[in-house]
Amino acid sequence: MGEQPRHAIADSRVSARVQSFPESVIREMTRLCLHHGGVNLAQGFPDFPAPLELKQAAKAAIDADLNQYAITWGAPRLREAIAVAVKRTYGLEVDPGRDVTVTCGSTEAMMAAMLALIDPGDEAVILEPFYENYGPDAIVSGASPRFVPLRPPDFALPQEAMKAAFTTRTKVVVINTPNNPTGRVLRTEELRLIADLCVDYDAIAVTDEIYEHIVYEGLRHVPMATIGDMAERTVTISGISKTYSVTGWRVAWAIAPPAISDAIKRIHDFLTVGAPAPLQEAAVTALQLPARYYEGLLQLYIGKRQRLLAHLRAAGMSPVTPEGAYYILCDLSDLGLVDDVAFAKWLVGTVGVAAVPGSSFYSRRADGSHLLRFTFSKKDETLDDAGARLAALPELLGRASVPGIERRGA
Ligand code: GLN
Repeated sequence: MGEQPRHAIADSRVSARVQSFPESVIREMTRLCLHHGGVNLAQGFPDFPAPLELKQAAKAAIDADLNQYAITWGAPRLREAIAVAVKRTYGLEVDPGRDVTVTCGSTEAMMAAMLALIDPGDEAVILEPFYENYGPDAIVSGASPRFVPLRPPDFALPQEAMKAAFTTRTKVVVINTPNNPTGRVLRTEELRLIADLCVDYDAIAVTDEIYEHIVYEGLRHVPMATIGDMAERTVTISGISKTYSVTGWRVAWAIAPPAISDAIKRIHDFLTVGAPAPLQEAAVTALQLPARYYEGLLQLYIGKRQRLLAHLRAAGMSPVTPEGAYYILCDLSDLGLVDDVAFAKWLVGTVGVAAVPGSSFYSRRADGSHLLRFTFSKKDETLDDAGARLAALPELLGRASVPGIERRGA
């Protein structure tokens, strides 16, 4: 199953471009989970309520009839609030008039940034494993991807491979810290190495920092734009989805120097015109929440991380503790996992827990076929429900032949 060309669309009228990438495996797992009535630890969205203040602000904005288009690249109040938050958090000066584009989620921000920067044949260096969207982002924008593998257990940046990946054709390097799916938080020295390469090869860093406020273990998130003069050649992407538990609102932003922002604004304008106006108003409220909100968010996710780690261990897996974001990548080689897609489909259908097959984070699917990703952005009771279902796993694996699992010595 994992080897089937899942992206084939049996109709010659559709473009070669869209034929060359599959549908999102993450969203597919959510649909399968709904079909089977399972517990969704696949797609990274909270199943608990969004903050009351945000919901009230959204409703108030609709009642106040802020229901027409905002300025295409973002309501002025929101761009101002973004600039203030970035200054307060990282000491970075951002001009809300020139440097900020508000987008429909960071997904649009990333696609718009790539379309704004890439000419066909330009190369994009992408750290691997990578959030599945970056593959199609590269294909749609015409970039030739050059993947640099980060290896377990620590997923440190491999210096020599990184240097070897940059060429005279490198236009962008795509970074995601804290990382989805590994949870890795890039260290300052690693960011410096990437920054030096960007300067040497005149490349732009496009950096997805959507999990910027979800960092554990006394580590801290360092934005690429704070390294040396990198603000001049960085597109920083973040948004309200993960930090404020409103993934369905689709409000995010790209921060970049004026010439690049102008290009992103132009693409964004013709892609979507703008993000939802009343929800942009509520995003202002989000960005003005006090420091204790972020402390509470972190405590919440520290507890959930422990909870899911315990459930996964009890089910016989060896999960790696993530440094940031809200995913746990599990290596199931010990259990004999060889086909993650077949196993994930069996797991949701039989055990009732949805996870994301690891291969969806790799350019060569075989590199991730022994991995599964679970999210802990869920209510404690949801995590416990998943834990109770997963507890049956060791026995099921011992008894029956299970799709995707190869028995050792059998
Ligand atoms: N970023 C989330 C994840 O990795 C949600 C992806 C999506 O469906 N937009 O699960």
